[in-house]
Amino acid sequence: ITKEAEVDKLKSDFISNVSHELRTPVTILRSYIDTLYNYGDDLNKDEQKEFIGIINDSIVHLNKMVNDILDFTRLETDTKVEKTMLDITSTIERALVGLKVLADEKQMEIITLFEHNLPLVPYNEEAIERVINNLVTNAIKYSPEKSKIEVRVNLTQDKKYVKVSVKDEGIGIAPDCLDRVFDRFYRTENTTHTIKGTGLGLHLVQIAIEKQHQGKVFVDSELNKGSTFGFYLPLNENNAEILKASV
Ligand code: ADP
Repeated sequence: ITKEAEVDKLKSDFISNVSHELRTPVTILRSYIDTLYNYGDDLNKDEQKEFIGIINDSIVHLNKMVNDILDFTRLETDTKVEKTMLDITSTIERALVGLKVLADEKQMEIITLFEHNLPLVPYNEEAIERVINNLVTNAIKYSPEKSKIEVRVNLTQDKKYVKVSVKDEGIGIAPDCLDRVFDRFYRTENTTHTIKGTGLGLHLVQIAIEKQHQGKVFVDSELNKGSTFGFYLPLNENNAEILKASV
């Protein structure tokens, strides 16, 4: 098949995926709100609370989906971001706090291995926090219960980049799919039918790292063993060109 036909197929898969994912929480919202509206007086306080809890969860889920789609349309056109000199380990720690609940649900442990005395790096905190969020969410999503995730940060040997990597013990990715996982809408065959997703997350990661920060993403994976996703961020803008040539 031609490249165009392939992109068309990815797009239509994406639309059917997204419509399903948007419809499910909307259906839940409608039925629970309808019940509360019509029969709320017959329910006791605890039941009312439980219903409102479910409504809240659905809204959180919808919100995430909508944000992903909006980020995607915005990022595709808007690649300039404000950068500040920051400590990448504190940004990572902050992102991990928000992901603890997700990891706990699967009794997974997230281990951090940070090199000491790392230099500050110029980056956009919101963008990099979202990148970490995406990589670690995937590591949780595509791994079995009680498995481990390692988040590592170190300076490259030439001292020109910080390297961040997220290693899991999950389902892994087949070699022939590996070079496509960063493509927009792409999802591997073995995940399309079982685990929810839009195929946008890694594409957004790549745009944030390579277009907004002149860095480079990488992946290393073995089927049924686990994956390591990560990125290099240049310590100063002049290194960006060297990275493009050498990585
Ligand atoms: P989504 O997770 O919404 O499908 P992503 O762009 O984040 O989209 O990921 C694209 C695809 O790459 C996923 O559908 C999955 O097949 C594969 N993938 C991503 N992260 C991992 C991981 N940590 N382990 C195994 N497969 C992964």
